[in-house]
Order: sequence, then structure tokens, then C-alpha cells
Amino acid sequence: MRRCGLIGLLLLATSAPGMATAPVQPTLVVALAVDQYSADLFSEYRSLYRHGLARLASGAVFPRGYQSHAGTETCPGHSTILTGAHPARTGIVANEWYEPSRLPAQNGQAMVARYCATTIDASGARVLSPEALLVPTLGDRLRAADARSRSVAISGKDRSAIMLGGKNASVTLWMDWQAGFTTYPAVKLGDGMARRVAEVNAEVKRIYVSGQRQPKLPEQCAARAQPIALTPEVSVGELHPTAAKAKRWRATPAFDALTLRMALAAVDELQLGKGPAVDLLAVSFAATDYVGHYFGTQGAEMCAQQLALDATIGRLLSHLDRAGISYVVTLTADHGGLDIPERNRPRGVPTAQRADPELSPGRVGAAVAKELNLTGSVLLDSELANDVYLAPSVEGWQRAVVLEAVRRKYQQHPQVAKVFTRNELLAVEPPGGPPDEWTLLERAKESFNPQRSGDLVVILKPYVTLYGKPENPDRDYVASHGSPWDYDRRVPILFWWRGIVPFEQPAAVETVDIAPTLADLIGFKVGPHEMDGQVLQVGQR
Ligand code: ZN
Repeated sequence: MRRCGLIGLLLLATSAPGMATAPVQPTLVVALAVDQYSADLFSEYRSLYRHGLARLASGAVFPRGYQSHAGTETCPGHSTILTGAHPARTGIVANEWYEPSRLPAQNGQAMVARYCATTIDASGARVLSPEALLVPTLGDRLRAADARSRSVAISGKDRSAIMLGGKNASVTLWMDWQAGFTTYPAVKLGDGMARRVAEVNAEVKRIYVSGQRQPKLPEQCAARAQPIALTPEVSVGELHPTAAKAKRWRATPAFDALTLRMALAAVDELQLGKGPAVDLLAVSFAATDYVGHYFGTQGAEMCAQQLALDATIGRLLSHLDRAGISYVVTLTADHGGLDIPERNRPRGVPTAQRADPELSPGRVGAAVAKELNLTGSVLLDSELANDVYLAPSVEGWQRAVVLEAVRRKYQQHPQVAKVFTRNELLAVEPPGGPPDEWTLLERAKESFNPQRSGDLVVILKPYVTLYGKPENPDRDYVASHGSPWDYDRRVPILFWWRGIVPFEQPAAVETVDIAPTLADLIGFKVGPHEMDGQVLQVGQR
């Protein structure tokens, strides 16, 4: 060791060939999330990108990033990105969970459903809030260390903006698809920002009323336009030129374009990256998720969306360039996604199918109650996700008996891969090592929080889609995510700054590695064990 001193100094002085270089001290960290942007979409469309995504794909590229937990939904996924913590630690185990009621007024119910991005205000009403997030985001940490740092989070979805912003963001903005961008009631935006919000919202309201046309199908997407009939009335696969109305306009590129307009407004009005301390801008683009849910992932609709997203992100980066800001940018996703079974079956996945409605906790709970001669349902009703909760009306010694009966009922179903009990999850150690080698139980462990998770975790077999066939084509989703299988866990993780020495690392890394890596890139100290992730060496200092 002693003899290495001089050689070490020489190596430091002459950066070795091929070694990544650190950015000039950045003044702005840009963290982008693309909702439902699976590693599979990145790989499929990478060669077609020409703008922002092409630039990001020319930096440090981790094509096999992992949202490594089991419950691959939007809120948990976004909660990992800037906290560096798994959902077990962020507390955001799902988009919605059951927890003990805090108010006697809640119809006397002992357990109530809680949406991840809410709290209860003084009047007992549910209001949007970051309260449920149990750990600070990188923006929260920057602002705690230096109050001059600004942290801004913007998304088409409330839960995405709130999880990226954390508890102490300067500005958190999300879009109500009918009324436009909004923030917490107590927050007053500055005049400039308020004016820009009003401009964008006038456009949102116009689109909501008159609908939004899909773009012309790009030439590169022509071969992907093949209709797949889901019902006699509904087919997907082609890009229909008719205007998307009401909620469905979220599945057009205009949804991301307006999110971008809001982000650019924040850059200009708040002069992000021009202050005395490092600022953070987090933006989550949600249209890819709605395209996936309404049309599946492998049709012309997704192709058009991917090319539009590439252009949208390109406009963001060009704007930052023109403003002369020194920035580092990262991009990932909250989860991956799965195509519709009707297209997967003829394309090499004959086992792809839709989930049996009999698997819903309401129906299983009623069936088990009947078997045991109990009244009502023994399970809290909810859409089938991973967590299943015993009803609080099942008391004392009955709970163990009912739990075993429910476990057996689920386990016997041909679409169910595995059922874990709360005790199994409590007993298992958190996993270490590469996330692609974790067992199902280990994946579920990183989604498990004792105060919020269910009594059972039910894991469906791969390629079982949660949604049924669309009964109301204006509203219903046809494809899903949320499983612990890799198509839902694998997401790209990209880093880029001007001057980065590019490389590609095919080994599996995690989205919880992003926050420690960003902190390292800006020279911000985070104590050991404060985050679950590790620093990825993307640029040597
Ligand atoms: Zn999502």
C-alpha cells in the first residue's frame, strides 16, 4: 500500500483511457421517470430514437435496471427512485393499502383503504399529501443541508409527483386530467409560475372538452399497425385518428407535452440551476403508462408514443442547453409492463391469459366464509393486487383458521404461482446480491411493511394479466403490470451529462442505486445505511 502512493497520484493526474469522467460541478440534477417504460420498450425502440432518448442512451446505460420489489405499481416504483430505498423502507408498499382507521367517523370501520399519496386533514377528508412516505427524497436532503437548494417535482399523475418531490419540495405539481396542474392547497405559487400554470390549464380544459387527436402514424411505425380484436367492438394495435376524449386523452403524446411545458416553465420561472446551491428537477411522464394500459405495449399506439416521448425529452434537454445550465440527467421507470394476452399468445407465449375474476379478494373471501359457515366475507374487498387482507370482523382464534383456508383456496387455483403469509415475510431476511437472482419471497420482502402490507401475498403465474376484456372501451384497461415477474421489474437506468465517457453495463442494478449515485455525482454526502442502494460508478472524480 505504502509504495502505491506515487503511482496512485500519477494515475489520478492522467485519467486512464476509457475511464468515465465526472461532470463539471452540476448545478441542476434532472431526474426523469417514464411511467411503465420497461427495459423491453427501451430495447425495442432504442434504434428508432433520434432526440432526447438517443442522447440519454449514449451515456452510462444500464439496460437491466430493476424495480426489484414484488408490487410493481406506480407509487412504490416512484418512491424508490429519489429515496434510494425499497418500498419496505419507503412504506409505499402499493398504490393503495388497508390500514387501521384513525377516525371514529369512518363508518365505524376498523380498517380503511388508504391511497398512497394522501392523508386525513382536520375535517376528516382525504387530501393529497406526501405523509405516507417514510424517508426523505434526495431533494428533501439537499434542502435540509442548504435551504437555498430548490427541489421541483412535476408529473401527469399526482402520486408520481408527490413521491418524487417528497415532504419538503419547493414546488410539487401534478395534473388533474380534467382541470389541469395543481399543487397542495396550502402552497402558493409565485406569480410567474401561477401564470404559466393557468396557460397550460386552459389547454388541458380545452382538450378535455374537445378531445385530443392521436398523431399521424410515423412511417417507422407502419409495420406495427396490425389490428387485434379484443371484443366484437374493441380492437387495438392501430393508431385511430379519432379524438381521444375524457380520461383517454392521457394516452396521447399531448399528455407528456403539457407535462414538459410545465417543467420548462419551472426551469425558467424559478431559474433552476442558476442559484447558489444545487437544484433538483424531477419529471415523470405518464402517457406511456396509459398507452400501455389502454392499448397494450406492442402495437402502433406504443410506437407512436415512443417516438413522441423521444422528441419531448429532446426538447427538455435542448432547453437546458440553451439556458446554459450545467446538469446531470438520469432516466428510469417506476415499473415495466406486459402486453395483452391476445397478442402475446400468437407471438410465442401460449400461456398468456387474463386473470380469473374468481380470484378477487371479495369472491374468495365470500367462498371461504361459506365453507366455514361464517357470514359476509372474510377478506377486505379490493381489486386483486398482491396484498390480501383478512377482514377485522374475523377475530381471535378464527384468524389462523381463516388465514389457512384462504391460503389454501388461492394456492389451489391454477393461475396462482405462490402464496406467502405475513409470518413468512416477517421471518425472511432482506435479500442481498443481484436482484435478478432473488427468490419470489425475497422480492415480496422488499414490498413488505408490517404496518401496511396484507396478511397474505398472492402471486399469480407469469403472463396472467390482471384486467379482463374491456366492457367499456372508453374507460377500461386491457393490459397491466404489478407482478413480481421480470417484465414488470426490469427498467432502463440511464445517466448522461455533457462530456460523459459512455459505457454500457449489462449486469443487473437497482433503481434504489439512482439516488446514491446522483448524490455522489454532485459531491453530496449521505451517511452509510441511510439508503438501500449503492453508488454506481458512472464517472470518476
Ligand atoms: Zn406507473
